[in-house]
Amino acid sequence: MFPNADYSGRLDAVRALMAERDVDVLLLSVGSDLPYLSGYEAMPLERLTMLVVLRDGPVTMVIPRLEAPRVQARGGAFAIYPWDETEDPVAIVADLAGSPAMAAIGDHTWSRFLLGLQDAMAGTRFVTASPMTSALRIRKDAGEVAWLRAAGEATDRVVDRLDDEPFAGRTEREVARRVAQMTVEEGHDVAAFAIVASGPNGASPHHEPTGRVIEPGDAVVIDFGGRVKGYHSDTTRTFSVGEPAQRVAEAYAVLREAQRAAVAAVRPGVSAESVDAAARGVIAAAGYGEYFVHRTGHGIGLEGHEEPYIVAGNTLALEPGMAFSIEPGIYVPGEFGMRIEDIVVVAADGVDRLNRSPRRLHIVD
Ligand code: ZN
Ligand code: ZN
Ligand code: ZN
Repeated sequence: MFPNADYSGRLDAVRALMAERDVDVLLLSVGSDLPYLSGYEAMPLERLTMLVVLRDGPVTMVIPRLEAPRVQARGGAFAIYPWDETEDPVAIVADLAGSPAMAAIGDHTWSRFLLGLQDAMAGTRFVTASPMTSALRIRKDAGEVAWLRAAGEATDRVVDRLDDEPFAGRTEREVARRVAQMTVEEGHDVAAFAIVASGPNGASPHHEPTGRVIEPGDAVVIDFGGRVKGYHSDTTRTFSVGEPAQRVAEAYAVLREAQRAAVAAVRPGVSAESVDAAARGVIAAAGYGEYFVHRTGHGIGLEGHEEPYIVAGNTLALEPGMAFSIEPGIYVPGEFGMRIEDIVVVAADGVDRLNRSPRRLHIVD
């Protein structure tokens, strides 16, 4: 399911970062660091899968024997060590690791395995792997951008089709099922999620679709995405069932300008927080500041949410290849919500938009 990529090159790059940080061994299990470096995603089950990356030695994937057929060799970037049901995989990993002074372990590793490894490797200091793996994953290469773009274009086609769907009289859950179905039909390998938040439910940004029947006059926030070759899409458009109330139309004009301003602020060298400030400034100036209750965006790639986070306090300077969402919203409790979300990639000379479906308030029946 993951694309062919230069896994050997990525392993070399992470080893260079290990050397800078005096990390002797890198241990990766469930989570997205493992597929980034090996093309294989561990099953999140009770049997341990772990990639053991020695800074100055071989790379070995320790994997339950019954799951070993799932692993592609990927041009010999790593060896495969299948373990049998009666073996102790923690002891195998500890043995391969030797007695390192410092081990970095993936942030998503189950604590059961980390605690076992800490017992088995009593002289080893454990640190989190993410400072090294995020440093690589935060800048997408051309192949990764191509998959993100394919996923983004697929969601744009879903938005186009939503304009022709009936809304009034259907429940949020019915519309969410339709969105998930179209997400796959338009080219995703899987649908990851679909938020359909109508009327007052729209004021909850991460609303779980309910049996509420959508009514004429509702604003409906639809936020959805899927995965193509492991890479995520994530887009939001806001719909109005019939003509919007004046209060909704006024707020939407502000939101659209805020989203435009934030996208326009993206270029190499500017800070992540300044992109957040560009959106927030427009919304606050119009008097809706208290109704914009979340950060402006999050990075996207093998995970739906990853670095960089577009939030006040993040002084990280944007670099070409960084991919993230720009998704300001306005949420008025008890009344309505609205959000516009696009994925963008920092380009050498500005910004590359991966979503191009119309950002207007979509009027539907
Ligand atoms: Zn969200
Ligand atoms: Zn979203
Ligand atoms: Zn998002």
